[in-house]
Amino acid sequence: MNKKPIGILGGTFDPIHYGHLRLAEEMLELAGLQQIRFIPTGNPPHRDTPQVPAKHRSQMVQLAIADQPAFVLDEREVKRTAKCYTIHTLQELRAELGKDQPLCLLMGGDAFLQLHTWHEWEKILGLAHIVVGFRPGFTLEERIHSATPALQQHYQQRLCDVNYLSQHAFGGIAELAIPKLEISATLIRARVAENRTIRYLLPAVVANYIYQHNLYTPC
Ligand code: ATP
Repeated sequence: MNKKPIGILGGTFDPIHYGHLRLAEEMLELAGLQQIRFIPTGNPPHRDTPQVPAKHRSQMVQLAIADQPAFVLDEREVKRTAKCYTIHTLQELRAELGKDQPLCLLMGGDAFLQLHTWHEWEKILGLAHIVVGFRPGFTLEERIHSATPALQQHYQQRLCDVNYLSQHAFGGIAELAIPKLEISATLIRARVAENRTIRYLLPAVVANYIYQHNLYTPC
């Protein structure tokens, strides 16, 4: 089998910024993905409720990815009323896309090292590959000792190269060296609240949307 994988990038996107977009663009290229689905989370199980409603976070993702045809907004989690977990989203995608379609769950290194806190995380590799973006010269191999023994074992058993991702539908953990931009949604929310500039941290269309809808300003 050799089929271009579909990437899945979940996040609160509160708001989406260039850190997310560069991560996705680099992974699209380095992992040879055919598409990346951006899936804003509705009701995140293991973090504080996002500051703005899902409809705004979704709309900002749509605006940010409009000029990249390989990026697609997938609103299934924001439409779900029940608590949503990544494992359920992957089960749905696997059922829709068939057993042979390679799926890659994309994440930053920080997110990967917390994977053991995710609901039914050990089942994820039975549905998708995991592709982790790590800073060049700062590898996952060096950081993995800080993970739980179970996660370390998964990492050691499943580590693969990028070719594996298109040859198998699920089950590999690949690590890609991706320069990390020092941008976070937390930083952007804080700057808006303090009336400081957010220019060049995120697409101008998203910044305009934030100002038009008075998002992240103290009530
Ligand atoms: P917050 O600051 O609110 O915690 P965030 O900016 O970290 O948010 P998330 O929506 O939590 O954004 O992140 C979604 C995914 O994007 C995660 O896998 C995370 O590791 C990755 N990510 C976030 N910011 C960056 C960045 N600057 N560079 C690379 N990856 C990033």
